Amino acid sequence: MNSIPDFKMSPILPGAWIGILGSGQLGRMLAIAAKQMGYRVAVFSPDSDTPAGQVADAETTASYEDLDAVRRFAKSVSVVTFEFENVPSATTAAAAEHALVRPDGRVLHITQQRLREKNFLKDQGFPVAPFRAIRSRDDLRVAAAEIGLPAVLKTASFGYDGKGQKMLRAEADLEEGWLGLRGAEGIYEGFIHFEKELSVVGARTVGGEFRAFPVFENSHAHHILDITFAPADITPDLAAQARELARGILDALDVVGLLTVEMFLTRDGRLLVNELAPRTHNSGHLTLDACVTSQFEQQLRAVCGLPLGSTEMKSPSAMANLLGGLWSQGVPDWAAALASDPAVKLHLYGKSEARDGRKMGHLTVTSASVAEAVRKASLARSSLVVSSPG
Ligand code: AMP
Repeated sequence: MNSIPDFKMSPILPGAWIGILGSGQLGRMLAIAAKQMGYRVAVFSPDSDTPAGQVADAETTASYEDLDAVRRFAKSVSVVTFEFENVPSATTAAAAEHALVRPDGRVLHITQQRLREKNFLKDQGFPVAPFRAIRSRDDLRVAAAEIGLPAVLKTASFGYDGKGQKMLRAEADLEEGWLGLRGAEGIYEGFIHFEKELSVVGARTVGGEFRAFPVFENSHAHHILDITFAPADITPDLAAQARELARGILDALDVVGLLTVEMFLTRDGRLLVNELAPRTHNSGHLTLDACVTSQFEQQLRAVCGLPLGSTEMKSPSAMANLLGGLWSQGVPDWAAALASDPAVKLHLYGKSEARDGRKMGHLTVTSASVAEAVRKASLARSSLVVSSPG
């Protein structure tokens, strides 16, 4: 008797259509990886002429609430994955009627809201900063008394790159913090005097195979990622701990796909989980040039049920983000950046409007040492700005 193939376990092979919800730079780089392996790519987002849409085979422009459009989209692909997690649960549920959705709606539901995410992590025994839910002025007062100041007050939903975040230094800041929430649910987190910010990008297959990239070390400017380098400047023992922490979280969430764990390394040597992203991450962009398999190819392999690729680094590497402000004096001098060192690689996302703080592209450098890679990436970026004559 023929057994029915286990459709969840059988791989989705090149030639099949991959559906991406979201259409920014993460979707663009995923689409490029998918096309390189012979897949067809369809993207879905409310925008048109998008970074991902420019390289995809098909682009649907519709709202995430338009469930009929979501169903039509899902029918046209074998698997739906994400480059943007803030889509309503109803959207993932509608997509799941017609295609595999990886990671699934539960992973999205937990990771798209900071309180749900932190509660999940805490309940599962993963280390996080002390936090409280804030739904009233009184909650805020009690949280300040119990956890103390300084603290960071964040909106529970739709926050990224420091948006919807306020530092509370003294009692006097509480009222302003409360008003800043504008009635939205908030989360009060004890301020962590961290030594370093780290991230681990891990992938997990439907069969539970797990692979993580080497640990990335991140520095931020104005709450936005500025520079990442890898491997992180930490002991091998700590790096192993960070990757095991990520493995535990992907296992606990039963992730099929890729998930990023942002962490703080405290001054007393502990790892605390700051945030999860059920997708590729800005800090993983250097994998495109520095690792045997990029984070985008790894996401594709994981969601298609293919064996995961090697995450080994071919060379130490650094990545510098290119934000919209670099355009303030005119189009940056790309040739000057490339001339600064032949190891400099330029990645631009095809965004037409360079708004301040908008992620427009990045530069990567691979080098003999991390320190040299960071120096070269910073130098390349500073040579981009055209100095106005006189
Ligand atoms: P998030 O949006 O939660 O990733 O926060 C953005 C950045 O704000 C982080 O990368 C940290 O640099 C900083 N930050 C967030 N939460 C805390 C915290 N509890 N203590 C100290 N810094 C924080």
